[in-house]
Amino acid sequence: MRIARFAMGDGVAYGVVEGESGQPQTISELHGHPFGIDPSGVRLTGQRYPLAEVRLLAPVLPSKVVAIGRNYADHIREMGAAQLPQEPVLFLKPSTSVTGPGDRIAYPVKLTDRVDYEGELAVIIGRLCRDVPKERAEDVIFGYTCANDVTARDLQLRDGQWTRAKGFDTFCPLGPWMETGTDPSDLGITTTVNGEVRQHARTRELLWDVPSLIEYVSAVMTLLPGDVLLTGTPEGVGPLADGDEVSVTIESIGTLTNKVVIRD
Ligand code: MN
Repeated sequence: MRIARFAMGDGVAYGVVEGESGQPQTISELHGHPFGIDPSGVRLTGQRYPLAEVRLLAPVLPSKVVAIGRNYADHIREMGAAQLPQEPVLFLKPSTSVTGPGDRIAYPVKLTDRVDYEGELAVIIGRLCRDVPKERAEDVIFGYTCANDVTARDLQLRDGQWTRAKGFDTFCPLGPWMETGTDPSDLGITTTVNGEVRQHARTRELLWDVPSLIEYVSAVMTLLPGDVLLTGTPEGVGPLADGDEVSVTIESIGTLTNKVVIRD
């Protein structure tokens, strides 16, 4: 099931997206939000809109975005590291970095001159949880979406830690919706810039898979409904420029597209 958050007129709601891309798609409005509810138990209001007539928003307003660095071997090599990490590398992106499908990525030219895309599979947490063994990770996952872990690469190298580089407003596009019914263990992930393929990998190449990451992160911090876990980016990261259109496509989920604009 595909569940999106959307704006229609003055209202914001969650809804179920129906129909395949390329055909007329609709969105059926939900009562309230879907978290804490078995996806099959969502209640529809009866309102239904053509998908083309609503504006899709970031599918969640998370309390935090927990991100994993260095989780694909080919990407670790391209970043110049001599060996693979012994443990997942954790960092946080602020909730205010989240932006939606179709929104602009604001390039803060006064502070950085190297802003990179990083296409990633994002996990959406559905229940309050901590100390989740990997065997039970599925119980706390609501669904999956596409993410772009936008990074000011020069600041990441200069600062020695990643808060500023990863934390600018709009540096965490998410969307276009949450897919609740997919197996994340072997999905194709592709990033394009202006239609040209820059990253292509499969999630089976993750050094730490989704259940292992849930166990690792939830041993450190309580995860709340709507929290987001970014699983790391594959090889092929590179810079964005003013006016670029960057898309992250994940098999069986969808495509997240954003345009880059200069922010003075
Ligand atoms: Mn990343």
